[in-house]
Amino acid sequence: MSRKQIQPRLNEFERIARYFAPLAGKGARGLTDDVALIPGPARTEYVLKTDSIVENIHFFADDPPAQIAQKLLRVNLSDLAAKGARPIGYLLAIALPITRDEAWLEGFSQGLAEDQKRFGITLLGGDSDRTDGPVTLTVTAIGKVKAGTAPRRSGAHAGDRIYVSGTLGDAALGLLLLKQDRHVSPSPPHLGGEGHAWRGLTSRHAAFLVDRYRLPQPRLELGRKLIGLASAAMDISDGLVADLGHICEASKVGAVIEAARLPLSAAARTALRADPNLLETILAGGDDYEILFTAPASAARRLARLPVTEIGRIEKGKGVRVSDAEGKPVPLSKAGYTHF
Ligand code: ADP
Ligand code: MG
Repeated sequence: MSRKQIQPRLNEFERIARYFAPLAGKGARGLTDDVALIPGPARTEYVLKTDSIVENIHFFADDPPAQIAQKLLRVNLSDLAAKGARPIGYLLAIALPITRDEAWLEGFSQGLAEDQKRFGITLLGGDSDRTDGPVTLTVTAIGKVKAGTAPRRSGAHAGDRIYVSGTLGDAALGLLLLKQDRHVSPSPPHLGGEGHAWRGLTSRHAAFLVDRYRLPQPRLELGRKLIGLASAAMDISDGLVADLGHICEASKVGAVIEAARLPLSAAARTALRADPNLLETILAGGDDYEILFTAPASAARRLARLPVTEIGRIEKGKGVRVSDAEGKPVPLSKAGYTHF
């Protein structure tokens, strides 16, 4: 055909598949997993992950710099956790506008220092740039795992059960609260009229939700215990439905989530009671940084001793469905966060 085709805009994953996947080497897992693996000494593998956070997208300009630093590190450590890796160290690349002074850097480095101690890692190198744009921060985290044991996104089978660690939706709800406080438009239409909170939500609940947005908790200890039990695993960063969708696509299976089984904090339960529409935020909002994994029924007894909740089943077919307590389908309008 001679007529010029108008190309639809590629989404984030189509771009990666077209432009970068052909460049990927051994250990990259085709750029369809959360980490890369390269052989290390004594039957180990190094586990590599890089993730950036950008001002006004992943954090607010006036967030405490120590917390920005810790979020930056932890979003990376969360990927290592889902693969059962032990973190070793990290590289740090920062692009800062001139407005970021030494007081900001002092707080930022203090946050890193605290988390280095908390997670037993050290800084290995990095890069520093000046920018006229927003603050852009990148960490490359390096960990180690016994060779061949890190679970993939692609290992789920029909009949496997689906599990998550911790509680879901807290961070997405915390972000809604922050946006409402700041009158960032468009403000979420379903927030109650009275003050900043949903009916019944206490200020302690609100502080808890905001903290869950600002400070992810990488589930490193749990991740190591899942080795040998999980058939597929990843961390939830773009929302449960989208990330489970990635596991399904990589594993060539479908999934059904039972909404009534979702593990919710007291704060999230209160918010959901005040506004049932928030179920969609909980299912599809991002920033949970919990481990999402699948496991065969034979692992159920051992998993019962771990802080995880079964939320559904892997089935033949494709795509992710959500069903309510009566088994009726829950409609979903947004599938999760993508960058393009
Ligand atoms: P996560 O949610 O864990 O950060 P993503 O879904 O963002 O992971 O990324 C999916 C895969 O695409 C990963 O393997 C990642 O390494 C790869 N990827 C993303 N962007 C790029 C890029 N610009 N160049 C090479 N690989 C990329
Ligand atoms: Mg990830």
